[in-house]
Amino acid sequence: MAMFKAIRIDKADKGTTAALTQFDEAELMDGDVTVRVEWSTLNYKDGLALTGKAPVVRRFPMIAGIDFAGTVEQSSHPQWKPGDRVICTGWGMGETHLGAYAEKARVKGDWLVALPDGLSAREAMAIGTAGFTAMLAVIALEKHDLTPDRGPVVVTGAAGGVGSVAIAVLAKLGYHVIASTGRSAEADYLKSLGAAEVIDRNELSAPAKPLGKERWAGGIDSVGSNTLANLLSMTKYGGAIAACGLAAGMDLPTSVAPFILRGVSLVGIDSVMCPQLARQAAWKRLASDLDRGKLTEITHEIGFDQVIEAGARILAGQIRGRLVVKIS
Ligand code: NDP
Repeated sequence: MAMFKAIRIDKADKGTTAALTQFDEAELMDGDVTVRVEWSTLNYKDGLALTGKAPVVRRFPMIAGIDFAGTVEQSSHPQWKPGDRVICTGWGMGETHLGAYAEKARVKGDWLVALPDGLSAREAMAIGTAGFTAMLAVIALEKHDLTPDRGPVVVTGAAGGVGSVAIAVLAKLGYHVIASTGRSAEADYLKSLGAAEVIDRNELSAPAKPLGKERWAGGIDSVGSNTLANLLSMTKYGGAIAACGLAAGMDLPTSVAPFILRGVSLVGIDSVMCPQLARQAAWKRLASDLDRGKLTEITHEIGFDQVIEAGARILAGQIRGRLVVKIS
């Protein structure tokens, strides 16, 4: 019996339990590639799964964790062979498929992306789903003709994972970035990432007017609810907002005014089922457009035994930037 360390989620009388324990390799789910996981990370969704605060986990027992980077051990998939360095994010890992907080993972080869040249497995997980999502949002805004000369770009949830990577990438691309945060103490951190202005998130949290003063040409929103409604109502004519998160809520109390009177676009971002070609393009861009020094500044490392406790802290909005998890 081959056992490995994993964070296992089980159903309990009330909710779920999470424990770092031994898992039997024979219980791994079907897949044509087995990977030795070296690094993982902690995303907001991991916090939801670890604490059981939202029904993210759809199968029990589950191994939590939505992202890993590691080395292929076995493969019957034509694209992958033992020794290949790979990244896997999303695709239901940690939700419907046994996930990433484990020394071993078995997944479909079609889910994997090759670790881009020049990026270490640790750096890939410092980026993780959060940073990958930030890049998908930047690419989506570019497809809506956003360029630095069209005006400022606002980033909400700025000190979080998606926000921190979005600021670093946008600043490197030459944008004037307005960072919205609830943590004024992080203003220097946000400026060091490249934010030109830092605003208090309270400015954007009250119910939105149908149209407000035009303040930005684009935006990346991790927050949802009134914040997203305010972003839309303050977007310049022809601008676009990429919606990727719900840190303040699932609702969107807006009107059609920004769309029909200013031609504003609302672009949805999903990282989980994102098709392969778009994934490869986003990872390639991350390898070139994210300053490594800034990535280091964003990143804090924790051990396998600290993940469960950190899950509660990310939901409380207490994690700055990104956490990487050393697995093996
Ligand atoms: P983090 O917890 O790292 O960041 C979220 C940030 O949102 C916090 O740091 C905080 O920023 C801000 N925030 C938290 N609570 C509130 C609140 N009540 N009101 C306003 N702002 C708040 O999470 P991630 O960056 O990993 O994820 C951000 C969001 O994006 C989550 O909702 C997540 O589910 C979603 N997401 C979606 C993906 C997709 O595929 N669409 C993929 C990845 C993430 P500050 O302190 O600066 O105000």
